[in-house]
Amino acid sequence: MFVDSHAHIDGPEFDADRDAVLERAQAAAVTTILNVGTGDPHSGVFERAIELGRRYDRVYTAIGVHPHDARFYDDRAESLIRELLKTGERVIAWGEIGLDFHYDNSPRDVQEEVFRRQLRAARDCGLPVIIHTREAETETIEILQSEYTGAERRGVFHCFSGSRDLALRALDLGFLISFSGIVTFRKADDLRALAQEIPLDRLLIETDCPFLAPVPYRGKRNEPAYVVEVARCIAELRGLQIEQVAELTRANFESLFDPFAPASAR
Ligand SMILES: [Zn+2]
Ligand SMILES: [Zn+2]
Repeated sequence: MFVDSHAHIDGPEFDADRDAVLERAQAAAVTTILNVGTGDPHSGVFERAIELGRRYDRVYTAIGVHPHDARFYDDRAESLIRELLKTGERVIAWGEIGLDFHYDNSPRDVQEEVFRRQLRAARDCGLPVIIHTREAETETIEILQSEYTGAERRGVFHCFSGSRDLALRALDLGFLISFSGIVTFRKADDLRALAQEIPLDRLLIETDCPFLAPVPYRGKRNEPAYVVEVARCIAELRGLQIEQVAELTRANFESLFDPFAPASAR
């Protein structure tokens, strides 16, 4: 039984055939999906993600303001997220949050400030965080070191495509590393080398669908069933059976996000 630890299935890309997509996931033994709500927090995207999680038993929800949308973050957004975390069912993480200096969809200083604020708020709520970082490695680590302190720093660097140095620093801070379909791409030798090196109790797998479909689906719309291809690739790299990768990434997912704990105990 596989876990897709990061997917975006609440969006319009899946409106036409969402039930079929989730049936294919089930048929492929992808029994748990963490759906990540993103977008302008004032546009109803988080409510939409939570509603989806309510409708499907095996879908959990994360909400948080993506660095692309940092310019929309304000006090009202923060109180909305806090409120939804309290009242929404099966909302198990704050994210995705972080820095994206590749696209620069929001100004960098705004991204940094909003990342800091959300880290503080997540720590305050006792929720693990999902980190998105692109071309901002030094800044990401510095901010995590200064803002996300405490007995334990819980979270994951999702869709990892950074340097080995970033991975080691993230591990050092206590984070997990999640691999997406990128690890199956022909040119991703460095990433595959890294996937051989990450401790097995720190690994997660994800699709980040609808983007980044793994080989042999590359270029198509991605969907949770394809997380099996990511697991297959990791299994080959580590000399494991695919079932072992499924089992260990599920155990890691459960220990990080604690999906079975009641909201009040988090
Ligand atoms: Zn991301
Ligand atoms: Zn994402």
